[in-house]
Amino acid sequence: MEDPELVVVGGGPVGSTVAAQTASFSTLVVEEHPEVGTPVQCTGLVHPRVVEMAGGESSVINAISGFKLFFPGGRVLDVMSNEVKAMVIDRTTFDRHCCDRAIDEGADVLTGRKFVGFRKEGAKARVRLEGPKGKEELTTSLIIGADGYKSTVGAAAGIGPAKETVRGMQVDLDTVLDIQSQVEVYLGKNVAPGFFAWVLPCGDFTRVGLCVSNGAGAPSKFLSELIRKRGLQGAERLRTYSGVIPIGPPKITHADNVLIVGDAAAQTKPLSGGGLFTGMRAAKWAAMTAVDALEEGDVSASYLSSYEQRWRSDIGKELERGMLVRKVYTKMSDQKLDEVGRMMDRDDAKEVLSTGDIDFPSKLARPMLKTVPTLIKFSPQALGSLLRKS
Ligand SMILES: Cc1cc2nc3c(=O)[nH]c(=O)nc-3n(C[C@H](O)[C@H](O)[C@H](O)COP(=O)(O)OP(=O)(O)OC[C@H]3O[C@@H](n4cnc5c(N)ncnc54)[C@H](O)[C@@H]3O)c2cc1C
Repeated sequence: MEDPELVVVGGGPVGSTVAAQTASFSTLVVEEHPEVGTPVQCTGLVHPRVVEMAGGESSVINAISGFKLFFPGGRVLDVMSNEVKAMVIDRTTFDRHCCDRAIDEGADVLTGRKFVGFRKEGAKARVRLEGPKGKEELTTSLIIGADGYKSTVGAAAGIGPAKETVRGMQVDLDTVLDIQSQVEVYLGKNVAPGFFAWVLPCGDFTRVGLCVSNGAGAPSKFLSELIRKRGLQGAERLRTYSGVIPIGPPKITHADNVLIVGDAAAQTKPLSGGGLFTGMRAAKWAAMTAVDALEEGDVSASYLSSYEQRWRSDIGKELERGMLVRKVYTKMSDQKLDEVGRMMDRDDAKEVLSTGDIDFPSKLARPMLKTVPTLIKFSPQALGSLLRKS
């Protein structure tokens, strides 16, 4: 194996997106699993722009134009739009497509190799991998950690973890929902404490899942209860997935010879946990910084610090606003949530909700507070600060 100028750890969509844009320098993607695209730990609900960004049309399995929001006390807000608001993608197909794009651009991909650490050697980094034949080492200038929420790259570089994690579980059920264009979203401490649950039509099957805050108990217990309450307990479980979503990026996402990106840097949306849009946007800034650094021959932390400014000025504000709203949301009792539901259960408020964009949820704050000004009472300080920031 020739020493590459750049090593991308993680063959997920974010790692592949970086590698497709750095391949003017020799780029090696290292993926611990024998194949890219499995196991899946994602619902695959994305804005159509994500499909476009990746050219991943072949992975689309359904289109969603609205949602039904279930409050703990039983109130349901039924919101529909005339546009397609989100698409359901098959993550295995999507991830493989992103990886093929990186290969087409000239990157090499080494599967079945786990990054286990690195040490500095002068200006370079000596990378340690473990594979089917045991330990391997290679030398590179720059390591990009796109290795998910546990980021071994981040830990090896002394970069802190996400501020918080939530644990998720979902199943694909062998049942077809009558309404295929709406996702059901369930709120409440008894349904999904600290997060929310979903029932997503996917054509000939239905994806049911949820996330819960750390320490809230096993997601499996809440999931079985949701399936029962939704009357889907008779359906066959085709697939089961579980995973962790990191929320709240660490203060720093770079170090000497290292950048971290995607879930490794907790670049996920704090309200929904979605990380494909934000991670793929950050991938662009990671790739640009990497190319600049390699052209300049400077991979010091000081040179790589421009990555912070680049990705944070693009998506950082939206993530900060999401953190603010998440803080208010997780502190709310079910009674307060029901009160919010009651206030928003009117045509003009639902009209505002129907204009929402899943990648920029904070854009709804101003029009929603204008339509239902009494919502401010739930957290005058946080919501006021949100308005000032938006
Ligand atoms: C239950 C659940 C539902 C979700 N639903 C959605 C959704 O609907 N929409 C959305 O946008 N996002 C969703 N997400 C989040 C989304 O899955 C992630 O944000 C996205 O996968 C991040 O991509 P990534 O490439 O950064 O990381 P990953 O997809 O996690 O890829 C990281 C890759 O690195 C590899 N790796 C890890 N460690 C090493 C190592 N040491 N050496 C080599 N390889 C390594 C892994 O095998 C993996 O292939 C969901 C997450 C969960 C858990």
